[in-house]
Amino acid sequence: MSADNWAECPKCKRDRETKLAKLDADIASQYGKVTVEAFDELRRRATEERTAKINLHTFREDYEIGVYDGEFYISYTGGCSVCGITHSFKHEAKLDLA
Ligand SMILES: [Zn+2]
Repeated sequence: MSADNWAECPKCKRDRETKLAKLDADIASQYGKVTVEAFDELRRRATEERTAKINLHTFREDYEIGVYDGEFYISYTGGCSVCGITHSFKHEAKLDLA
């Protein structure tokens, strides 16, 4: 069965942003402490990492919404195939037929 949607994983996105910020901090901390060649190599690796094609749309979503047999329902499950976070939500309510 195919997914209803592949969303950007919020945890993987946050982890990537943290990783890139750490790379920038590492480079800044090395300024003036290493050779120019070593510093350029750090910057080259950071640029390579920053421009790498990383698929963050790893959060599989499956959902249903509708009315069945007099009840409104929502069913949602989502989970990331990389970091493993999950979320689910279900709600059912009788329709007001008054
Ligand atoms: Zn993830």
